[in-house]
Amino acid sequence: MQILIQNGTVVRSTGRRKADVLMRDGKIAQISERIDGPADRVIDAEGCYLFAGFIDTHTHFDLDLGVTVTADNFETGTKAAIVGGTTTVLDFATQDHGMTMHDALDLWHKKAEKSSCNYGFHMAVSEWNDARKAEVDDMFRAGVSSFKMYMVYDAMKVGDGQIYDAQKFIGARGGVIGVHCENYDILQARIAEEKAKGNLGPTGHPVSRPQAVEAEGVARLMRIAELSGYPAWVVHLSTADGLEEVRAARRRGVEVYAETCPQYFTLDVSQYAAKDGAKFVMSPPLREARDRAAILDGMKRRDIDFIGTDHCSFTMAQKALGKDDFSKIPNGGAGVQNRAELVYTYAVQTGAITLEQMALLMSERAARLFGMFPKKGVLKVGSDADLVIFDPNAPHTISWRTNLHNCDNSPYEGMQASGRVRDVILNGELVTENGTLVKPYGGRYVFRNPSERYRK
Ligand SMILES: [Zn+2]
Repeated sequence: MQILIQNGTVVRSTGRRKADVLMRDGKIAQISERIDGPADRVIDAEGCYLFAGFIDTHTHFDLDLGVTVTADNFETGTKAAIVGGTTTVLDFATQDHGMTMHDALDLWHKKAEKSSCNYGFHMAVSEWNDARKAEVDDMFRAGVSSFKMYMVYDAMKVGDGQIYDAQKFIGARGGVIGVHCENYDILQARIAEEKAKGNLGPTGHPVSRPQAVEAEGVARLMRIAELSGYPAWVVHLSTADGLEEVRAARRRGVEVYAETCPQYFTLDVSQYAAKDGAKFVMSPPLREARDRAAILDGMKRRDIDFIGTDHCSFTMAQKALGKDDFSKIPNGGAGVQNRAELVYTYAVQTGAITLEQMALLMSERAARLFGMFPKKGVLKVGSDADLVIFDPNAPHTISWRTNLHNCDNSPYEGMQASGRVRDVILNGELVTENGTLVKPYGGRYVFRNPSERYRK
């Protein structure tokens, strides 16, 4: 199978140029000013940008919270991902109490069988002891080189000493650990305060976990990494204060990687007062204007490394589990389909970042940190033929009604996007054409190498 894309502009982190791209047998075979074929399929990308397939570093498909299960499983979630230009998702396989990492990995492989984009797994661990440590080498052998720990959530929370020990143990093997940074004790106390005041609606959510709750967690993680001597990865960074902690740690020589999500530079805390405020309940919560500006500035200055969505969708009926108590609203929102158009519209179009930085944030750095580079994360000869044709002149309104998410709400409902993903090539095949998924279920497991640790 040979696909030839003509007349597009190839965008890489290092620059852009008008070039044709020929793909053959699942790889990029040639990139040059003019390629005439032959090819089985010729696509005209005049006026469009060509990016390496986007990588979403943070999704939760088919995640069982106990009280309910996410609205999207891999089948629906990856259909939404691929039409949005995400050719690889890194989902959190989750080792709940009573499970081994092997159990979690087997379970996630099963869950992901009907995937329409490529997928890899981070291993989220709910406990850290000799039995779990004994499994780590097998995880690397199975292509899992990144892990996650939580400072919060009763089902997942681990202690600081465990994070410290895990950083050393996993870091020595070339892996990285993402940490959900918030201060558990303080946010629990503040939830109780809001409830005592009778503030039971969604507006209580951001009050219970304000900026300092995240910044304290980030600061603590930075010190843990300073002590362990191994890298830290801050997941879904949302605050100006947290970003300052990351910068301060780097000045001390700590190796830190920072991820943010579109909701933290496109939405704000006022949304909780809306009638459907429950749909914005996610952790960390939406923030204020100064945080949005800081996150965009962090993207511009390359202090923020990559953008995941933290896609964790629930229907309004599921959100209603917390209608009388905001702390019982399932946390998370649907976003996996909208990442590229949001980044383009609200970061590139606004002049906050360049197209080249978009390429860096949407795939290259994730591919490097998570052991997929240069197969993924860059358009160059020999790389995997995962490619996005992005049309910058395609204004439209984002809505859950047109998203492929299995979810009856969107945090981005009614927002304008100025461009969109037009076509997507996955593993050398055209799977999305003119915004429509034409070939589902082409996703493959991505075996990942140890981290490149490019900030070392
Ligand atoms: Zn998450």
